[in-house]
Amino acid sequence: MADLRFRVVAEAFAAMERVTARTQLMLTLVKLFKATPPEVIDKVVYIIQGKLAPDWKDVPELGIGEKLLIKAIALAYKASESTVERLFKSIGDLGEAAERVARQYRAKRRGRGMGLDAFMGVEEEALTVNRVYNTLLRIAQAQGEGSRDIKLRLLAGLLAEADPLEAKYIVRFIEGRLRVGIGDATVLDALAVAYGGGAHAREIVERAYNLMADLGYIARLLVERGVEALKEIHPRDGVPIRPMLAERGRDPEEVLRKVGGRALVEYKYDGERAQIHKRGDEVVIFSRRLENITRMYPDVVEMVRRSVRAGEAIVEGEIVAIDPDTMELKPFQELMHRKRKHDIHKIMREVPVAVFLFEMLYRDGEDLTGMPLPERRKRLLDSIQPEETFRLAEYMETGDPQELWSFFLKAVEDGAEGVMVKALHSQSYYVAGVRGWLWVKIKKDYKSEMIDTVDLVVVGAFYGKGKRGGKLSSLLMAAYNPETDTFRTVCKVATGFTDEELEKMQDMLKPLIIPHKHPRVDSKMEPDVWIEPSIVAEILGAELTLSPMHTCCYNRAKTGVGISIRFPRFIRWRPDKRPEDATTEEELYEMYRRQLRRIEEEAVQAG
Ligand code: ATP
Repeated sequence: MADLRFRVVAEAFAAMERVTARTQLMLTLVKLFKATPPEVIDKVVYIIQGKLAPDWKDVPELGIGEKLLIKAIALAYKASESTVERLFKSIGDLGEAAERVARQYRAKRRGRGMGLDAFMGVEEEALTVNRVYNTLLRIAQAQGEGSRDIKLRLLAGLLAEADPLEAKYIVRFIEGRLRVGIGDATVLDALAVAYGGGAHAREIVERAYNLMADLGYIARLLVERGVEALKEIHPRDGVPIRPMLAERGRDPEEVLRKVGGRALVEYKYDGERAQIHKRGDEVVIFSRRLENITRMYPDVVEMVRRSVRAGEAIVEGEIVAIDPDTMELKPFQELMHRKRKHDIHKIMREVPVAVFLFEMLYRDGEDLTGMPLPERRKRLLDSIQPEETFRLAEYMETGDPQELWSFFLKAVEDGAEGVMVKALHSQSYYVAGVRGWLWVKIKKDYKSEMIDTVDLVVVGAFYGKGKRGGKLSSLLMAAYNPETDTFRTVCKVATGFTDEELEKMQDMLKPLIIPHKHPRVDSKMEPDVWIEPSIVAEILGAELTLSPMHTCCYNRAKTGVGISIRFPRFIRWRPDKRPEDATTEEELYEMYRRQLRRIEEEAVQAG
């Protein structure tokens, strides 16, 4: 079977660490993909994503902590654990420490004439992608008694075969931080260029990925069967679809206009989004991030078995914590207890839930995503035998802003977060993976000046002064631009962190520090350290302002300035969001425009 030397992948990673522009990042990836035979392109894509399979596939974690990793490095290169540890402490990166130990080991072997094979002209066998991937998979699959030793042996064996550069990236992969910072968007771009005939194929590749959230599979299909095969992709039971997302709005009249007049208005529940796949009695639930969360909701599985009448179906809804006696909605935080690993049946009784359905994407072999919303709803209604805790989201249909507003107030009073306003026209398709104006959310924090919180990505950090001296205590935050796949800065956040939060933040940021600005970051500010864009935080501010220091919406509202947030305050981390799920530049621009309009209205009212 055709294979690829792992060295080629390691060299691409090394090159990507050096580049400073996103296009270079993408071109390095194109080169790597072109060098990769079709048989292993899926594995190469997973490795780039830092995974062995898509999250929803439930491949076990590698289960190798820092200690075991150090042991394996020591074992592979006949060094003492304390030597590896000391090097690690002084460099601050275990991948580089492994690289150095490996290099010393090679030099020593050569010095002692142990490289006899090489001397005799027999080359050591080169490490391949298959060998690396399959060994990592075996490490992950080793479970139960004695598995620690098996993992150690497998890993030490793999490292012993690796050259120093390869060792560096194997170690980093195991630590879960390759630090090459490639998002899905870059992979999609590179695949389109390498195998789709150019950037114009990007849309097709992306659509396929949105309908079948397995980037490795999509890559392989593209390489083996071409763009045409991707056009034929339909949702398939068991493979999650990337969720459709909403734009945000405020003014009912404007929102109705945006969705084309009449709309379906539903409660926006504050719970966990669930994409539920059913085949016969088999039920799988995926989260918003498309992780398999079935284990957390055995009660929902039962509800689906009882209530969904189709043999095969994919439906979406929001799982919400409730008071079963009154059916009152409880806040999102309540649901988090379900994340506990043990005794799910006890927690299930303590935190009862209800499911409010709002979508049907697939039914008995029929792909519904290309149908307008009224058609999808008809099928959803036909397929559900509702129960008190498993039913459609509260809804109404209207074209009247006044009616919409009354419904919004009722939703908030009932404990919902606001409403979702959804287009009903002939093109109101389910557009997987896309945030668009077919769905608009109106949320209740409309009273605060800034209307709404935003979710921003940490791209840099500054050391504090005084009591916070020596600690990273303010963060440079950025919004996402999906068109350019870059992060552009909005503000510096230094308030809202408790002392405890601050301590935790140090550990969280340290491994993400990179030596130069990330190629996907656009910033005028120079923070004390640059951070790989990967963590999202929810931020609230007093209002949006214009600032020459920030690059978000630069030159858009006014020449020479960008949009920033005044008095930004940290609210909470959003581990459920990837950096690409952060608030977009466009959303901030819309928020700024709405703020301007409000100020103007107030000025007119004040006479
Ligand atoms: P937020 O940060 O407001 O939760 P988001 O970025 O996760 O938003 P949006 O598309 O902006 O996602 O808002 C839609 C989210 O609201 C969905 O992901 C879902 O979890 C939730 N939701 C609650 N009720 C509904 C509903 N009736 N229709 C669609 N989504 C709903």
